[in-house]
Amino acid sequence: MAPRPRRPFRPQPRTLLPLSSAAHTAGTEPAPPPPPFEALGLSEDLLGAVRDMGFERSTPIQARAIPIALQGRDVVGQAQTGSGKTAAFGLPILERLDPAGPAVQALILCPTRELAVQVSEELTRLAAHRQAGVLAIFGGDPMSRQLTGLRQHPPIIVATPGRLLDHVQRGSLTLSAVRFAVLDEADRMLDMGFAPDVERILRQTPSARQTMLFSATMPEWVRRLASRYMRDPVTVSISGGTELVPQVRQWYIEASWADKVDALTKILDSPEVRIGLIFTETKRNADLLHVALLARGVDVTVLHGDLSQKERDEALTRFRESRVRFLIATNVAARGLDIEDITHVINYDVPSTPEEYVHRVGRTARAGREGMALTLITPIEILKVRDIEKHTRTAIERHTMDELDQLLQSAVPA
Ligand code: ADP
Ligand code: MG
Repeated sequence: MAPRPRRPFRPQPRTLLPLSSAAHTAGTEPAPPPPPFEALGLSEDLLGAVRDMGFERSTPIQARAIPIALQGRDVVGQAQTGSGKTAAFGLPILERLDPAGPAVQALILCPTRELAVQVSEELTRLAAHRQAGVLAIFGGDPMSRQLTGLRQHPPIIVATPGRLLDHVQRGSLTLSAVRFAVLDEADRMLDMGFAPDVERILRQTPSARQTMLFSATMPEWVRRLASRYMRDPVTVSISGGTELVPQVRQWYIEASWADKVDALTKILDSPEVRIGLIFTETKRNADLLHVALLARGVDVTVLHGDLSQKERDEALTRFRESRVRFLIATNVAARGLDIEDITHVINYDVPSTPEEYVHRVGRTARAGREGMALTLITPIEILKVRDIEKHTRTAIERHTMDELDQLLQSAVPA
C-alpha cells in the first residue's frame, strides 16, 4: 500500500476540549482541562514530536493512561472514538523501548489493513525525533516490501494478524523479543473472527510483556477475557455515560426497502452533506449501491474486502483527500479510520450490533469536530434503533424524508 500523503501542517493548535468535558458526564462541576503533555513524564524528544503534530494538550485518555503505561503496568483503555487512543499507547511504548535493541520489541495488532497503515503512520510521526523504525505488516501488500522492511530490524510492528502469522511461520519475523503488545480495537481483535490468530500470536511472545487493550467499546466479556492475556491490568475508562461523542447529531429516517436508494440519493444531493461515508452490511450491497448511485450521477466510490489492495488504496486515498465526496464501505471502514473531513456518516443498512454503530458513527465528529449520523431504516428495524439508543444512552431523532431538506440545512456540521 502506498503511504498516504501527509496531512498539511496545521498552523492552529489542536485542542480536544469538548472531549475532555465529555469525560465528566456524571459530575456537575466543570471538568478541569487535561494536563499538558509536559506533566505526563515523557522525554523532551517525544514532547517535541507532539508539539510538531500540533497537539496542545493531552486528551483525557492520554492523561490517564500514559503515566500508568510508563510504569509498565498492563492497561485496558476505553475512550470515545477520535479521542487520541493511538498516542495514548504509542507514546509510552516509544518512551520505554530501546531504539538500539532487538527487532520487534513492540507489536500492535489491528483489525484492518487500512488501520494498520494509519496507526503505523501516526507512530512514525510520534517517533520523528527518535530512531525507532515502524513497519506495517498486512495482507494484500507485497511480501517483498515487508521482507525488505524487516531486514532493517524495526523495533515496532503494526500488523493485521493473518499476515503477521505468515511471517512468523516462514521465519522472517520472531516475536521472542516482544516487550509491548497492544490490541487496538480490542473487542474486535478478541471476537470470534480474530481471537484464535491473536491467541496464537500472543503465545509466541514472552509472558513478561506489557499488554494494552484499547477500544471505544469495551464490553464486559472483553474485560473478562482480557485477564487471560494480562497481568493485573489497570482499567482506564473515560466516556462514563456514553461511548458516542456529544458533538454528533443522530437521526433515523424510515423508508421502505424499495425507496432506500431514492432516499439516499436525496440526502446526498443536499449540499450540506459535503463528505459522506455510507455503510452497508455486505460487500454485495456495497457493490449494488455503488452501481445504482453511479447511474444517478453521484460522485461516489466503494471500499470493501473483495477489492484488490490497489483498488482499496485508491478508494481510500481519493476519499481522504476529498477527491470524491462519498465512499460506500462495509464494516471494513467502521473502526479506527481517522479521516478529518467527514461531515456525515450514513447507515444505508442498520449495523447489526450497537458496538458497530458506535464505531461507524465515530468516523465523524472526531477530535472535537461536529458531525451527523443518519440511519435509514425500514419500519420493522425500529427495534434495532431502540437497541442502539439503549446501549449508547442517547436519543436518535426520528425524521421523515419530507422534513429532510429543511432539516439538513438547519443542522450543518461546523
Ligand atoms: P482514537 O484511536 O481514539 O479513535 P486517534 O488516535 O485516531 O483516535 O486520534 C484521532 C485524531 O486526534 C488523530 O488525528 C490524532 O492525530 C489527533 N490527536 C491525538 N491526540 C491529540 C491531542 N492531544 N490533541 C489534538 N489532537 C490529537
Ligand atoms: Mg484508534
